[in-house]
Amino acid sequence: MIVRRRWTAAATTAILFSAVLSHPGPGSAAPADPATPITLSATETALVRVQLRDQAQLDRLVAAGTDLANRPRTRDGRILADLVLTGAQLAELTSQGATAVQVVQRAEDGSRHYADSVRAAQARTAAGLRAPAAGQRTTTAAVVDTLQVQQAYWWTTGGQTFLQTQVATTATDDPDVEITVSWRTSDGATGTFPLFRFEDSGEYQYHYALPQPVPGRPVQLTATSSLGGVSRVVTPALWPNATPPPLPAGYQKDFIDAYLTPTDIQARIKRLARQYRDLVDVIDLPNKTQGYRRNAAAYLGDPAVAAVVVESVRFGDQGMNGVQVRTVDPGRRNRPLTVGYRDRVLTVSLATDTAGKTVSTTDEVAAAINARQANRFRATVEDGSAGLPMPVAGPARLDDGLQGTEVPARPWTVQALRLGVHRDGSRVGVLAYSQEHAREWATPLVTLEFAERMLANARTDPATRELLEQVDIFVIPMVNPDGANYSFNDFNFQRKNLVNHCTGSARDPKNRTSWGVDINRNYTVGSYFDGYVGGSANCLSGTYSGTAELSEAESSNVIALAQAHPNIKFAMNVHSYGGYFMWPPGAYRADGRITLPRPSIDESTLFLNSARRIVGAIAQERGTVTWPSQTGPVADVLYSAAGNSADQLYYELGIFAWDFEVGNDRWNAATNEWEGVGFQPPFDEAHGESQEYAGGLVEMVRVARDYAAAQPAP
Ligand SMILES: [Zn+2]
Repeated sequence: MIVRRRWTAAATTAILFSAVLSHPGPGSAAPADPATPITLSATETALVRVQLRDQAQLDRLVAAGTDLANRPRTRDGRILADLVLTGAQLAELTSQGATAVQVVQRAEDGSRHYADSVRAAQARTAAGLRAPAAGQRTTTAAVVDTLQVQQAYWWTTGGQTFLQTQVATTATDDPDVEITVSWRTSDGATGTFPLFRFEDSGEYQYHYALPQPVPGRPVQLTATSSLGGVSRVVTPALWPNATPPPLPAGYQKDFIDAYLTPTDIQARIKRLARQYRDLVDVIDLPNKTQGYRRNAAAYLGDPAVAAVVVESVRFGDQGMNGVQVRTVDPGRRNRPLTVGYRDRVLTVSLATDTAGKTVSTTDEVAAAINARQANRFRATVEDGSAGLPMPVAGPARLDDGLQGTEVPARPWTVQALRLGVHRDGSRVGVLAYSQEHAREWATPLVTLEFAERMLANARTDPATRELLEQVDIFVIPMVNPDGANYSFNDFNFQRKNLVNHCTGSARDPKNRTSWGVDINRNYTVGSYFDGYVGGSANCLSGTYSGTAELSEAESSNVIALAQAHPNIKFAMNVHSYGGYFMWPPGAYRADGRITLPRPSIDESTLFLNSARRIVGAIAQERGTVTWPSQTGPVADVLYSAAGNSADQLYYELGIFAWDFEVGNDRWNAATNEWEGVGFQPPFDEAHGESQEYAGGLVEMVRVARDYAAAQPAP
């Protein structure tokens, strides 16, 4: 019998949202087992896997700039999306028909996981079977569609065999067509599972399902549709069907003991340069970042009644934290509105009428500060306070709100490691870069583990030495240090950098966790500014594209490094999470879903064959297999990401540019569900990701070497 998981929204109150999990028995509508509630307070932020009501709901979320952590997936005909949201936002979504499926991570977990990882630096760890879902009806009506099996792959991991398939119907405009896959294994077991329609940007793509557990090696598969269509019989292929060379005896790995802050990463770079002097250069990238700094701000007045937001023009650490601001009653009749600044106190003396009553409005106070203290302060009327009488208030203390005490408050020099025996441009170059997105804590662990494996083994393993003879390796472990510092010290879901381009009321400190530029939407090709999908002009959006292409130091650094080293022919942009392996095109125009140009057949073949090798190398560590449905062009397998770095590297600089999303979903055999791991999983998981994806990067170096060797001599 099939125990089907069902989630029911239970209650929405002003302060608490609850979704209740129940396990109704087959054929039973009544909850059977004790409920496991998902609770999130209204103001708490969490990463939640949510089942959306329909495509329209998803489209609204995307249009509103919602922080989508992952590509929404289809399950049981519904759309699953991983969203970073508050309890209030979740409650609103729920009231519109969405249901919470899994709290992947809460706002506090990251800090705790960091602390845990540091405390238990030695901690180390390293997947059931059931009949698949019952088959769907097949009508006997006249056949009106044709089915094509586009993909059918199987693999075995942790003793469990999985089958994944993708099927296209010619009845592309019929949203109700049902497609069912029937399979048979080598020992004769049979079963079926349903596929679900996948649309993107309003266009039918194909039908697919998440990888399905099967009891053995599948040898035969057919698809049938509710319109009577039947596919040809297909033999599923082994995925990825590529195995890297075995690790030699004594191969050194596991150089990662804990999550690494930007300061830790800086120290690691320094140590590697010192320890492997003959094989390493450290490159200071040309554009210093803003640093872990913010303008200091305060509410003058009561935001719930009437208030003006006052902020310093300079950063808080530049002598502006602690500056006071106040409004005073001059205590005399017929006084004008005045603004004065002395002894670190900004004093606004309110205007009075003939009776001596203060008469200045919030707007007048803000305008006076902006007019008379423009070199030191900016003032904005709080939303809802426009035109209200300005109260006598303060003194309020300006503060940048930054909590990190061990972070240098100065512009940061982002560094790259260059590894190789011949670091002179004569060898094919490979670039691995990570943490464009601040909250993706596992990603620098991947690139640093990779770098140290190459260096440490160069002395003991002839094959590694040979790779460093033939390939010139560039590694930027941390593209976005300021955002990373903010993620570690202030708000663990920080994705963007710390540069605040907002104006007006968007600068209200209540928006402090939404400021910054999405570095991976700030590049020049297929950008938001060019009309492509997946970037935003809203400075508070998770995918804010900045004020212009390459407006940010962080993105400019990546391009500067690639431009300065034209031998770089391969690049990997390391992100988390979800388990993806991707390449261009990474963006399309909304109207008609027109992507950036598709690679040629030859290049597409290179991308796919290399991907299989690299996916095989990742699997070598702990059996993690990146799904075929998540291996392919970004625009096809994830979403449109306007202005991402890989597209600029590929289309502008001719580099074969890939993207990893490390942190594959883990199979839960007890629930028969794939579960998301999140941005800052417990360290054991992050450690596993670092080890397996470092192996993937080593394979990328082999791909580069083989590519170079196959080129005709100059
Ligand atoms: Zn990312």
